[in-house]
Amino acid sequence: MRYVEHVADLVGNTPLVRLGAVAEGIVPPVLAKVEYFNPGGSVKDRIALRMVEAAEASGELRPGGTIVEPTSGNTGVGLAMVAQRKGYHCVFVCPDKVGEDKRNVLKAYGAEVVVCPTAVDPDHPDSYYRTSDRLVEEMDGAWKPNQYANRANPESHYLGTGPEIWEQTDGKITHFVAGIGTGGTISGIGRYLKEVSGGSVRIVGADPEGSVYSGGSGRPYLVEGVGEDFWPTTYDKDVCDEIVAVSDADSFAMTRRLAREEALLVGGSCGMATVAALRVAEQAPADSVIVVLLPDGGRGYLGKVFNDRWMSSYGFLPPAEGFTIGDVLR
Ligand code: PMP
Repeated sequence: MRYVEHVADLVGNTPLVRLGAVAEGIVPPVLAKVEYFNPGGSVKDRIALRMVEAAEASGELRPGGTIVEPTSGNTGVGLAMVAQRKGYHCVFVCPDKVGEDKRNVLKAYGAEVVVCPTAVDPDHPDSYYRTSDRLVEEMDGAWKPNQYANRANPESHYLGTGPEIWEQTDGKITHFVAGIGTGGTISGIGRYLKEVSGGSVRIVGADPEGSVYSGGSGRPYLVEGVGEDFWPTTYDKDVCDEIVAVSDADSFAMTRRLAREEALLVGGSCGMATVAALRVAEQAPADSVIVVLLPDGGRGYLGKVFNDRWMSSYGFLPPAEGFTIGDVLR
């Protein structure tokens, strides 16, 4: 019989899928590392597992302890899954702008969710950041992973995702492309690939136009999970050979194409990374092998990038009128 004891034992070892229709006319293979195959549905399962194990080893997280993190998304799901496996409690703090569906996902996994007002200063006692700090100070056995400053975040990619990519491509990878949020993914994988290849793999960061990584000031953009208005310590500023800035419009158009033409229902940051990867591939020599990491699945974005009305309201699609029976029969 082949089985595992718990879904958390299935983190990692995600497949590479060659992009077809969206890469038409491009000679070198563009291979997508599809991270929604992780059991919690995103690349963040990897860091959740490693951050928890590192905290257990250091004694910061003790049996029966509580994991407290300001997160509303993928990291929360990963932490909640690992917490269940290992018998910890989870309290996640999120701003009230986070949709009810997202909060309900975390609650479904057994986490408690504390909601904070969005419209207050970061220093206000009720702010998202201050609330999580206060919970950690006041709760017995509480531990905050802090994915923006936790070394185990890039380390999970240096020790796991990077070697997987190297082995899956038989060491033939020439370019690696990923979006940058905390920077953990690109810093860990990038460092590993540079070391193992003797510096020959080119590391390309993809960034939403306006974010600090591509020289912006943090101007708002709509793609989620990537781009920042500050420089997290988990990002290694030396690892990227190039940063490609991608507009929301291009990111969302590609996200829709990935679902429609590649049957990859993925999130908006995947479309963004793919746009950057295809730009790199267009310029790359024919014998290149380009790997692009797709962080999560698209189910969490059905009300946004996959919703015609939402897309139209931002001008990414012409005004939505819906199909008539005539359109369908034509
Ligand atoms: N895409 C999504 C959807 C994410 O949640 C994240 C993580 N914030 C990223 C991309 C970027 O990954 P990293 O934090 O490792 O830079």
